[in-house]
Amino acid sequence: MNAKILIVEDEPAIQELLAFNVTQAGFMALCAEDADSAWQQIRDNVPDLILLDWMLPGISGVVLAKQLRADAHTKDIPIIMLTARGEERDKVLGLESGADDYITKPFSPRELMARVRAILRRHAQQMPDETVVAGALELSPSTHRVTAKGMAVELGPTEFRLLHFFMTHAERVYSRTQLLDQVWGTQTFVEERTVDVHIRRLRVALEPVEMDNLVQTVRGSGYRFSIT
Ligand code: CA
Repeated sequence: MNAKILIVEDEPAIQELLAFNVTQAGFMALCAEDADSAWQQIRDNVPDLILLDWMLPGISGVVLAKQLRADAHTKDIPIIMLTARGEERDKVLGLESGADDYITKPFSPRELMARVRAILRRHAQQMPDETVVAGALELSPSTHRVTAKGMAVELGPTEFRLLHFFMTHAERVYSRTQLLDQVWGTQTFVEERTVDVHIRRLRVALEPVEMDNLVQTVRGSGYRFSIT
């Protein structure tokens, strides 16, 4: 079955261009022009990935990304944010809203589709089914659940993979590049700074169970997950 890609974009010309490229690449394109019609599409047909425009009439792409992440049915769908805003601050804000990647308009359709493929491939990569335990933290790939001290920890798809990697590779220091290779996959366009954003998101998710300090910054080297 071809992956379904939902395009949420209010400008008809860009929506058409995206749909054309998505279809050309062998995927199925679903289109919506605002948050309401996006939710309608999602209810009818859960997509495998969402291309989400930042500037939408009504509810913005950033708010929609947050809504998608907060909903149990949609929280695992990868999101690529499309935007005309290229500032670093916007980029971080876009990623913090729950997007997995970020591309600035005008973009090269070829690069965008390469990113789509990379994210879908990463998403499809099978994790071993066994439940992983590290200290009071328990992660189950088969149910996609993380619990700590009996409480559920809510994680987006990238944070889930990142935590899985950390829990299975505890106590060692990994550079941002190594984490990109291991967690994002080698065929990635993601910048190293993106790692920091996801690390921050992982820490925020672990805060309520007081385990954010397990993810340690090693100055000048990278990150380490330590349960000792
Ligand atoms: Ca727009």
